[in-house]
Amino acid sequence: MTISKDDLAKLILVQSVDRDADALRKRLAQIPEDVAAIRADTEAGKAAMDAAKKKSQDLALKRKEKEGEMAAKEAAIKKHQGELNAVKTNEAFKALLKEIEEAKKGVSDAETVVLTLMDEADAAVKAEKAAAADFKGFEAKQGELVKSLEAKKAELESQLSGVEGRRKDLMGAVPPELAERYDKTRVRRNGIGLSKLEGNLCTECRVSLPPQVVVNVKKGHTLELCTSCQRILHDIPTVTSAA
Ligand SMILES: [Zn+2]
Repeated sequence: MTISKDDLAKLILVQSVDRDADALRKRLAQIPEDVAAIRADTEAGKAAMDAAKKKSQDLALKRKEKEGEMAAKEAAIKKHQGELNAVKTNEAFKALLKEIEEAKKGVSDAETVVLTLMDEADAAVKAEKAAAADFKGFEAKQGELVKSLEAKKAELESQLSGVEGRRKDLMGAVPPELAERYDKTRVRRNGIGLSKLEGNLCTECRVSLPPQVVVNVKKGHTLELCTSCQRILHDIPTVTSAA
């Protein structure tokens, strides 16, 4: 394939634009992962808040049950005390007194438990409120993070579309056969289709090239590929932009 150094110079610009495009694509690909991680953190925060709420509810329920138990025992005591006047035998009277004593002890035990539960429930309600307040702030912050990532994504997409347009224009001026070879090599070689010759070395894979290849690259009239990495070789000095 006959080419010119001018063609290779155009391809160098394409390579530079491709590097920019690849970097933009990499950053774009990272955004959904970052968003997913933020959402997972938010879910974990919500789970902690829900757990605090459930603990508080469970304690309130337990307290209600114990209070119901206490009320039932108090009702039993009243009933038995009413029955005391109606019993005929001493044994029955004693038995009833015993039941009343046991019920009274039951009430006293339940009362102790209720008092403990009340303290625990108070602490749980406080913890629940604190967790809810924490989560509200956290959720808002996470929402802001997601929003800024979405804005970043739109910005990167717009930049990428600009870079892709520029690439299309540049590639339009490269001979089709050379352009095709560059694209194929770029895909196979980690995004880099071109390599600069330095002395007799391919700068991308550091392999020494045969003297004839080196001579041909210096002339710049034929397409020369690295014998190892197959990248298109050139010896055009890197132009550093003044801007
Ligand atoms: Zn090479």
